[in-house]
Amino acid sequence: MGKETELLEGKQISEIHISRGITVGGFDIEIRINDESDKELYSVIKDGSCSLFLQRILLKSNLTPQGLSALYIHEVFHAIDKVYLDDSLTEIQIAALANGWLQILEQLGVRFVK
Ligand SMILES: [Zn+2]
Repeated sequence: MGKETELLEGKQISEIHISRGITVGGFDIEIRINDESDKELYSVIKDGSCSLFLQRILLKSNLTPQGLSALYIHEVFHAIDKVYLDDSLTEIQIAALANGWLQILEQLGVRFVK
């Protein structure tokens, strides 16, 4: 993954580009952040989605940088849950894990970007 550093709010932020996709278990998962995925998300009134069947994660494109990083972590946790936990975590558990990880990564100066 590409990695750059940039000053943000006076602090060094390491930006990790997420557009290349990820592999979770045996699943290669494509990350889509574009007009087409925005339309699909708009039709179901969601900011993001994760489908193992389609092997893709869709992320809304017009979020704040921190919002996009948060949503990416959230959808990656859904992918991990689907692959390793048979989709057994609740939405609240996923959100708690994702928000906790976001806090830690932001403290460490790591952010996922498109
Ligand atoms: Zn969710």
